[in-house]
Amino acid sequence: MSTTVGPALEPAIVKLDPASRRIKWVTAFTLMTLPAIGFAAALYLLWTGQVTAVDWTLFGVMYAVHMAGITIGFHRYLAHKSFKTSRFFEGALMIAGSMGGQGPIMFWVTTHRRHHRFSDHEGDPHSPNLHGPGVLGKLRGLWHAHMPWMLSDETSRWTVFAPDVLRDRRLMFYHRTYLYWLALGLLIPTVVGLVVGGSLMAGFTAFVFGGLARIFVANQAAWCVGSISHMWGGRPFDNGDRSANNWPVAVFTFGEGLQNNHHAFPGSYKHAVRAWEPDLSGWVLTTLGKVRVVWDLRQPDKATIAARRRRSHARTPQA
Ligand SMILES: [Zn+2]
Ligand SMILES: [Zn+2]
Repeated sequence: MSTTVGPALEPAIVKLDPASRRIKWVTAFTLMTLPAIGFAAALYLLWTGQVTAVDWTLFGVMYAVHMAGITIGFHRYLAHKSFKTSRFFEGALMIAGSMGGQGPIMFWVTTHRRHHRFSDHEGDPHSPNLHGPGVLGKLRGLWHAHMPWMLSDETSRWTVFAPDVLRDRRLMFYHRTYLYWLALGLLIPTVVGLVVGGSLMAGFTAFVFGGLARIFVANQAAWCVGSISHMWGGRPFDNGDRSANNWPVAVFTFGEGLQNNHHAFPGSYKHAVRAWEPDLSGWVLTTLGKVRVVWDLRQPDKATIAARRRRSHARTPQA
């Protein structure tokens, strides 16, 4: 790291030196393209009728593990500290999240907390709303917020955005060993496919479905949270940004698409503020709370939500 960006954002965001920039670019480019190749291979296997029930099962189970790791582990636990849990379950969440291939925990947490601090204003790492007016500006913004933001030559300073994680030796262990867990997430479906299917081809199709194609589909859904859910959807709360509750995105991302609710109450373990809003990770956490796997679940009470809603309506009568 070398120079800082504009004085308004200093010292939160820094420009990478050329060597670090190259490493970041290659890593991000690989993350964006390799799973896409796997997805294309999955389509070919489907087209040629070589996909088994085992492959579909592995895809579904690994998708659930991946999404729970990111949404419950990286997001609601690590970035927002919206509940507490044992070191054992914390480890399971960090490993599951790392299998998602969205980067090691320090990258994820610092990027995400920066997103909340600057939401849809200069400094937001992945806003779709800062790329000019008109339809073209919207399209450019959507594309940028979906994936190419990862190719940026800036980085979020760890000491500013995540000093708490930086001080935690056990959490930093999961940061340092990220690539091993990512590899494990590819190895598990491959081994299951080999053992159950009993052939190299069965191992390969399981690797494609439970590994690469699963990463592709789950991450495309997850990145819709930053792109689509900051452009289209309901806005019951005036958060001073463009965050929106987008139900289709929320269904595929276990509740993360309810961005307007989340930006209004970022510390809440639930993203739904009404019982019928789709928030699978919130429902899972409520259940885990009942059996004491997690505890000290934070959420605003009904009066706080109602007051916030009234204030928002007063400010933006059309919302
Ligand atoms: Zn957001
Ligand atoms: Zn958040």
